[in-house]
Amino acid sequence: MAIWVVADKCTGCGLCAKACPYGAMLVEDKLARLGPRCTQCGACLGACKFEALLSDLTQEPAPDLAGYQGVWVFCEVQQGALARVSLELLGRGAVLAEQLGQTLAAVLLGHQVENLVPELAAQGAGRVYLAQDPGLADYSTLAYTRVLAELVSSHKPSVLLVGATPLGRDLAPRLSRRLDLGLTADCTELAIDPQDGSLLQTRPAFGGNVMATIVTPRARPQMATVRPGVMPLGPRREGAACEVLRQVVALEPGDLLPRLLASQARGQKPADLTAARVIVAGGRGCGGPRGFELLARLAQALGGEVGGTRVAVEEGWLPAPRQIGQTGVSVRPELYIACGISGAIQHRAGCLGARYIVAINRDRRAPIFSVADYALAGDLFKVVPALLAALPGGA
Ligand SMILES: Cc1cc2nc3c(=O)[nH]c(=O)nc-3n(C[C@H](O)[C@H](O)[C@H](O)COP(=O)(O)OP(=O)(O)OC[C@H]3O[C@@H](n4cnc5c(N)ncnc54)[C@H](O)[C@@H]3O)c2cc1C
Repeated sequence: MAIWVVADKCTGCGLCAKACPYGAMLVEDKLARLGPRCTQCGACLGACKFEALLSDLTQEPAPDLAGYQGVWVFCEVQQGALARVSLELLGRGAVLAEQLGQTLAAVLLGHQVENLVPELAAQGAGRVYLAQDPGLADYSTLAYTRVLAELVSSHKPSVLLVGATPLGRDLAPRLSRRLDLGLTADCTELAIDPQDGSLLQTRPAFGGNVMATIVTPRARPQMATVRPGVMPLGPRREGAACEVLRQVVALEPGDLLPRLLASQARGQKPADLTAARVIVAGGRGCGGPRGFELLARLAQALGGEVGGTRVAVEEGWLPAPRQIGQTGVSVRPELYIACGISGAIQHRAGCLGARYIVAINRDRRAPIFSVADYALAGDLFKVVPALLAALPGGA
């Protein structure tokens, strides 16, 4: 995008400079000028009341997006079952669809997966786009991209949500490129703008220091990925019915060139913190493996899992799949006990979905206390043994 100032319309009012997040818009001698720090982000464009800022996009006629209707969730199948993140997205998608007054649809690709349709209906899907073919039995980037691109091109949804799993992170960018769309990855919040019905896609930016809300005003569908555990499950509608639209699959030989010859599970199945009801998490304050042994005892007494901060993972006290936060997993247990964790924004991003947060920290000003339901100010090596002593089977 290119932005320029129309000199004879500019009054030098400075509204554009106020709107610029980079301090790149300069006003000199009552005339706005784009400084060297300008990233062409376009934040200034809407701020000008005098039509003195133009871009090549504002010059182009607005595309007609009225024909795009419906909220779609790409539903991933993992070992014959629906991925939990797909169910979470159906829960959020149902809210978005209701606000838009549109249908929530699930998109299901695979081979002999029709048995999953009732579950999609129970999770809120009013319609299922079903594409079945032996060539779709195992995930393949080219085959899945072709089928999904054809579905999107012929049915024109307004919103398309994909789980940010390894599969989703491969498929969504490929699809967005194929269809020449934008893609907002790793969203932590999705909402509908009450003014114009566009999808507000919020995600951490600049290393997690700000939350950016992204809109896609000139393209449809609005595509976003969301990590597992970020959105809550919606209410189940037991026995609900839904419309099933079958897609004729016509794969090209080239789509099937990459073939899955064999797959092998790697060692022990990694812990799934996203499904845990209780998590005892530790940070630098645990001081080392001895502190985490204590946390493991508390987790065991409560029937929960152990997680922790990036520091704990980097120190080698905890395996990487147990890292909670912006670059780890997002969790929403009933109970989250944070031990020796300061509560940096990148960590909080992964645990704020917990129903109750209990924080144990010896620093009364630790930021984790500002989000905790119960704050235990003290040394975790005294507080955790006291909790264990009070729990049946914990001593
Ligand atoms: C781009 C980016 C992504 C990131 N992603 C993540 C992420 O996904 N997850 C994540 O966790 N971090 C992430 N971080 C790192 C994050 O910014 C913090 O550095 C990290 O969360 C701090 O970990 P901590 O709380 O264990 O350590 P500290 O911040 O050092 O806090 C230790 C706390 O322990 C307390 N303490 C010490 N001893 C005791 C004791 N005996 N008893 C009780 N309390 C005690 C201290 O008072 C202190 O509050 C990321 C950072 C960046 C820049």
